Amino acid sequence: LSLLSQFDPQVAAAVADEEARQEAHVELIASENYTSQAVMQAQGSQLTNKYAEGYPGKRYYGGCEHVDVVESLAIERACALFSADYANVQPHSGAQANAAAFMALVSPGDTVLGMSLAHGGHLTHGAAPNFSGKHYNAVQYGIDEATGEIDYAEVERLAQEHRPKLIVAGFSAYSQIVDWRRFRTIADSIGAWLLVDMAHVAGLVAAGLYPSPLPHAHVVTTTTHKTLRGPRGGLILSASGDEALYKKLNGAVFPGQQGGPLMHVIAAKAVAFREAMSQDFVRYQERVIANAQRMAEVFMERGYDVVSGGTRDHLFLVSLIRQGVTGKDADAALGRAHITVNKNAVPGDPQSPFVTSGLRIGTPAVTTRGFDVEDCETLAGWICDILDELAAGNDSSEIESQVRGQVDTLCTRYPVYPSAVA
Ligand code: PLP
Repeated sequence: LSLLSQFDPQVAAAVADEEARQEAHVELIASENYTSQAVMQAQGSQLTNKYAEGYPGKRYYGGCEHVDVVESLAIERACALFSADYANVQPHSGAQANAAAFMALVSPGDTVLGMSLAHGGHLTHGAAPNFSGKHYNAVQYGIDEATGEIDYAEVERLAQEHRPKLIVAGFSAYSQIVDWRRFRTIADSIGAWLLVDMAHVAGLVAAGLYPSPLPHAHVVTTTTHKTLRGPRGGLILSASGDEALYKKLNGAVFPGQQGGPLMHVIAAKAVAFREAMSQDFVRYQERVIANAQRMAEVFMERGYDVVSGGTRDHLFLVSLIRQGVTGKDADAALGRAHITVNKNAVPGDPQSPFVTSGLRIGTPAVTTRGFDVEDCETLAGWICDILDELAAGNDSSEIESQVRGQVDTLCTRYPVYPSAVA
């Protein structure tokens, strides 16, 4: 950072502070991860300087011969990794990948059916303040509050009643296996498109540890920065064999939604896809799931409700309704102990979406830095110690500072980027 700190000490100081925060805090936000230094090197390269509107071999700018190599590699690797025959690696983010998929599949005013934000869906699946809720007639399904699992009967009923042109499956907060085939059967019964947003589980899918939606969905979107552990960005895939659809998707990304692609990010995506093809990556994802499962068990052993009774992926939701603790207060107390989680609405939540009665906890980041099942068990115990104090209405400052000290020792044992702390 020396050039940066000489020229711009204010930005350099904030970057250094963020590096230190990432090293010293336990990161349990389910959508975050730590990329490799190779990914960061690609993203910090001269490719940031290049305009490359268009697609490899068909650009609107000269000088694209090298970025063409990079984008072609990213496309080939994405297709190989997910057994797809179409990939668009240009979406700047998951939200833009979804916007492009909507643009290719439906027209403004059409009816779309997606999972509600309050039940674990994403903003882009039809939430009112998002483009998907504003420009389309969005109908929303949710989970069965008794089981915490997707209410497929409700999906079917809403599909028959509203005849959406597009059904969106996928989630931001769901700990069970989604039955992609069942979604496709429902979509087929009304002649709708099926879009699966696998942003959260893309890394697990790549490792073969979560069922792939590719054989079932017409279009699959994802982010590249969650379990997949690449740079922040989006990706669109398909294995439908529908060339006309692929053309529409390409046109929806550029020029439909975006201008020039971020070639430095595409280079970093290519590197991440290569990493995801390794056996090490499969072992990593196995540990992500084992760590999440052990943490969820500890919460249940300590008397906390875990939505749907456990987890089969990288995250789970803790419901604090019975304890009368808000997600907002729990999130703040854990933050003071240097444990980062996010508050999350849970089934039957009496609180507003800003307050909530739950926490979403995910293990991709801690597993990347090396935490094993025992570390995760210990960590879950510390979290319960803090929640117990909140549930009893006690002052939690003493336990928070005790846990903060233990977190500090644990984090020092597992540096995220050893060179950053050397
Ligand atoms: N789709 C899902 C399921 C997500 O969870 C998210 C992000 O949280 C997104 C899309 C949006 O991704 P981005 O933040 O890159 O726009």
